[in-house]
Amino acid sequence: MIIKNDAASFDSYIKDASNYKGFCDKVLLPETVEDIVSIVKECSASKTPISIAGNGTGLNGGRVPEGGVVISMERMNKVIGFDAQSLTAEVEAGVMLADFLQATDLKNFFYPPDPTEKNCFIGATISTNASGARTFGYGSTRAFVKEIEVVLADEEIIHLRRGEIFAENNKLDFTSLSGKQYSLSLPEFTMPQVKNTAGYCISENVDAIDLFIGSEGTLGIITRAKLMLLKKPESVVSALAFFADEEQALAFSQTLRNYAKAKRDQSGALINPCAIEFFDNNSLIFLKPKYSSIPLGAHSAVWLEQNCLSAEYDQLLEMYGEALSDSNALDDIWFAFEHKDYERLSSFRHSISDMVNEYISKNGFRKLGTDAAVPEENFREFYFFNKELMKSNNMDYVFYGHIGNCHLHLNMLPKNENEFAKGKMLYREICQKAVELNGTVSAEHGIGKMKREYFYLMYSDEVIKGMAKIKSTLDPHNILNRGNIFYEEDLV
Ligand SMILES: Cc1cc2nc3c(=O)[nH]c(=O)nc-3n(C[C@H](O)[C@H](O)[C@H](O)COP(=O)(O)OP(=O)(O)OC[C@H]3O[C@@H](n4cnc5c(N)ncnc54)[C@H](O)[C@@H]3O)c2cc1C
Repeated sequence: MIIKNDAASFDSYIKDASNYKGFCDKVLLPETVEDIVSIVKECSASKTPISIAGNGTGLNGGRVPEGGVVISMERMNKVIGFDAQSLTAEVEAGVMLADFLQATDLKNFFYPPDPTEKNCFIGATISTNASGARTFGYGSTRAFVKEIEVVLADEEIIHLRRGEIFAENNKLDFTSLSGKQYSLSLPEFTMPQVKNTAGYCISENVDAIDLFIGSEGTLGIITRAKLMLLKKPESVVSALAFFADEEQALAFSQTLRNYAKAKRDQSGALINPCAIEFFDNNSLIFLKPKYSSIPLGAHSAVWLEQNCLSAEYDQLLEMYGEALSDSNALDDIWFAFEHKDYERLSSFRHSISDMVNEYISKNGFRKLGTDAAVPEENFREFYFFNKELMKSNNMDYVFYGHIGNCHLHLNMLPKNENEFAKGKMLYREICQKAVELNGTVSAEHGIGKMKREYFYLMYSDEVIKGMAKIKSTLDPHNILNRGNIFYEEDLV
């Protein structure tokens, strides 16, 4: 295990991509689960906080330490193996998603979870239940996690397998490898019926593995996982369509959602996109310096993707062509016919997030990017509420993202401290509105340290205390990822 004591070497471990910065006393780079157990043992005895570091692409300060030690997972980076029969892969938590995707592709497998940023570690994507464009069709990371190994705050190791341990009447019991028994009381509430990463995943009969997935490192350190794979799709239809009018782009997105719904009800045509992404007018203007070929007259854009059989490809292409023409898309549609075109479209989507992060980091502000989602029936109200709020407050912004899941990111672009302060207030108003519309304040980035006040808008005191009690039962000294999700006063 490598131990870094020199503060000069801490720089990359005390911040994340949100520009949130912290401090620590030591950085540890374990190589085995035994290394992790021994670190936890020492920290538990001295009540030293542990912050768990993936690759630092998080956007909520979740991995940012506020004292204590950092455990970086970077040396636990082995793909342990693939099993073609069960369509699974076993990995250590520090495997980079980009490397894993490349390895799966080479073996003709397909791992659908696709956060826009691929330079993240698999353990972190499980800890944040990361999702992306394809979540519309395939679900988030959670849907592809079959097993996890977790080191708890009391140095015990648990192995959780999907489908093995369920809560009964809001009580969840499980046992560690050494035989220690745990019994958790789960608060009673209904999670919003949207893509959601705010707080713990809880239901009356939740699978134990789902409580740990998305728990943002507050309940344990994920060291290893078995992931579910699919066979590599034979073909992919992918296109970026531009519209002269925002209403046309919104209507086209709704048409695609309807197609997907019909297909899921088994009553629909062949069209069944797995990704539907939206770019508003400000996003296209923001991207124009890098993508000068964005057509003149383009106001908004929609990117879609569908995996299919080779035999279906031509027919599907034709059907999409018709749907686009019926929706009045501009003639200049960017279809991906070859791998390089496909890469170009993915990179177009990635660029907007990257350029926003560059902007905020150049100006020295923290990111003010919303992550709210609302049910489909409330999406239009939420969309125009956001836009009106920005307009009436004269705030620069870009608005883009996962419109398939009614989950867009509104990124404010403050030019000075005053605008940043105003932006923080507007952010809260947006979260409040999302909650009012039965949505979530965080659909994919999680709460971390930066979004706690919004998390507290979402649930009653009783529910938050119930979630905090789970944390306190498993981590009574609050050593793991202290400051994530909960304020300290709520932890018993
Ligand atoms: C340009 C850009 C685009 C992005 N797009 C998306 C997107 O589309 N969808 C999405 O979901 N996210 C997105 N993100 C956010 C980020 O990539 C994800 O949250 C990712 O899962 C973080 O991975 P990481 O390895 O960088 O983790 P870090 O930032 O280092 O950590 C993230 C959290 O996971 C915890 N953690 C890390 N490893 C473990 C472990 N082994 N056990 C327990 N806890 C652990 C950390 O303590 C922290 O709370 C984006 C970020 C950027 C910069």
